[in-house]
Amino acid sequence: MRSVSIFGATGSIGENTVDLIARAPQDFRVVALTGGRNIARLAEQARVLNAEIAVTAHDELLGPLREALAGSGVQAAAGAQAIAEAADRPADWTMSAIVGAAGLVPGLRTVARGGTLALANKESLVCAGPLLMTEARANAATILPVDSEHSAIFQALTGEDMGTVERIILTASGGALRDWPLERLAQATVAEALAHPNWAMGQRITIDSASMFNKAMEVIETREFFGIAPDRIEVIIHPESLVHSLVGFRDGALMAHLGAPDMRHAIGYALHWPDRRHLPVARLDLAQVATLTFRAPDLVRYPALRLAREVMAAGGLAGAAFTAAKEIALDHFIDGRIGFMAMAEVVEATLDAISRDCGLGNAPDSLEAVLEMDNLARQTAQGIARARAG
Ligand code: NDP
Ligand code: MG
Repeated sequence: MRSVSIFGATGSIGENTVDLIARAPQDFRVVALTGGRNIARLAEQARVLNAEIAVTAHDELLGPLREALAGSGVQAAAGAQAIAEAADRPADWTMSAIVGAAGLVPGLRTVARGGTLALANKESLVCAGPLLMTEARANAATILPVDSEHSAIFQALTGEDMGTVERIILTASGGALRDWPLERLAQATVAEALAHPNWAMGQRITIDSASMFNKAMEVIETREFFGIAPDRIEVIIHPESLVHSLVGFRDGALMAHLGAPDMRHAIGYALHWPDRRHLPVARLDLAQVATLTFRAPDLVRYPALRLAREVMAAGGLAGAAFTAAKEIALDHFIDGRIGFMAMAEVVEATLDAISRDCGLGNAPDSLEAVLEMDNLARQTAQGIARARAG
């Protein structure tokens, strides 16, 4: 029996993880489940999985959580500090599926105690990749990628020598607005950006797919996780989302990972790693699929991809500034205060402003340095976004 914790249990990745664990209750003992505002669902999950503790990120929701758990024997806690402490509780396997930079601290605490971290929260690698990877190495912790592209790459690399890898090719669906005329993009609404053609995901990552901020973060995630030079990472649009990514070797061979667009693939692979077990996902009927199409992304349509290259070239704390500015820009878009294309403009202006003034090149070698840059970039982006919103 393995002990597991899920950070961000009430989200899209969290629910898929709960689904897999609930199918084999005899194999798992659940330690901590964390959520945000969805108290009813968090309590229900904690009861069904018989968790040790359930934690909400919001202090003011401790009362309602306690009430919802009354008589269950599950402990209740609230606040960012309680989430960090939940990560200190011993568990064999921990899912990191909080959305945004808030996922960094529990991930760091998990690897600091030498745990196995299944990492869906790509923001932690973008804002503090060197810090997280160094901490993991120092404590003999294991990090398993859960982002579908990175899981695909990880699987394609099994038994291979990184020294023989020539390139990594990340596939991208192109998101909901992929086929819109360029001049209409500035007017796209939240509802339109949320109509993802293939994947069912949380609201924020779905909009990030339409703008390709998601792919931009994944390029940086690839660099940090696999330690490959930025000029060896390519992005290709693949509208069917069936090839989840590819690795190109020095003999010209390409290893691709294919499967239905269902996150339980990548989650299940990480959950059972290094085993491969049966997973309840659809099997591809290739004759029915018939064709797979690919095309190069247009950098004018997707400025986030260009920004990712600039962030990698700048190094240091640029990734921390990038994720923070992106989160603020996304908040403003979701609230209807700025347009779809203005998100990239806000992020670019924030990076420009910070690189002129202070500290972008400093190493992301401590949590304090990362959080300080995160804070500065949020404030700078707020000012820039407010000015744009008028
Ligand atoms: P969701 O928005 O669906 O879920 C986010 C989870 O985090 C919820 O449990 C939410 O709680 C909780 N949460 C939100 N804000 C905070 C906070 N400040 N502190 C603590 N907890 C918080 O996101 P997804 O599941 O879509 O994505 C999770 C992560 O996985 C992201 O980093 C995303 O980029 C990554 N990912 C997601 C994929 C997907 O298919 N969804 C694919 C690949 C990567 P509540 O809802 O209760 O408020
Ligand atoms: Mg992905």
